[in-house]
Amino acid sequence: MAGGGSGGARPQQETKASGLGVDADVLRHVVRWGGREHPQLAGLRAATAAHPLARMQISPDEGYLLGWLLPLLGARRTVEVGVFTGYSALATALALPADGTVVACDVSAEFAAVGRPFWEAAGVAGKIDLRIAPALETLRGLREGGGDGTYDFVFIDADKGNYGAYYEEAVELLRPGGVVAVDNVLWGGRVARPFEAGDADTPAIQALNERIYADPRVDACMLAVSDGLYLARKL
Ligand code: CA
Repeated sequence: MAGGGSGGARPQQETKASGLGVDADVLRHVVRWGGREHPQLAGLRAATAAHPLARMQISPDEGYLLGWLLPLLGARRTVEVGVFTGYSALATALALPADGTVVACDVSAEFAAVGRPFWEAAGVAGKIDLRIAPALETLRGLREGGGDGTYDFVFIDADKGNYGAYYEEAVELLRPGGVVAVDNVLWGGRVARPFEAGDADTPAIQALNERIYADPRVDACMLAVSDGLYLARKL
């Protein structure tokens, strides 16, 4: 039964090659066989597909990675910087124990409202603590509230100009052994090419890549999954 296998909702994945040039057929294979997507994640992906900013949603295989990594970390307290329509928050919440939480930071209540029905249908809405405010304010508020050293995982996937600032707050919030994951660190490959005039995002991302590489507070590993994911474990 070529290409067969038992059912379950399949990801509504675009079929074009990835921004990093991964062949579309290979990408389809990774999405199809690389992990199991929860039906509510598949539903949220479908609900987001028509959105003009749908590319801001993490890819299914990146969701598989989050869903696999968080139990390995024993994660219970997590933070997400950049929610969009809530796919990664849902993937995170599904991977946490019943008393786990995701402090989900974004400036748009409108986008997150797309995800909420899926969070609820999946039975994990109570784990997602949505904070509609500039993320730096929320992160600093967590720190002022005694949050330093108490979080297991931080996912950064928001405005690239603030990446360095988000990273600094994240490292302080993490407990030793906690992980910060930074998305889009390859930025469609643009980090590896001469920066184009007027592009502020690529230099900001590359500056953070260099900072993480040299940061003695973490042990880090960059993955060429999706649009690039830098995983840094606090020492
Ligand atoms: Ca992203």
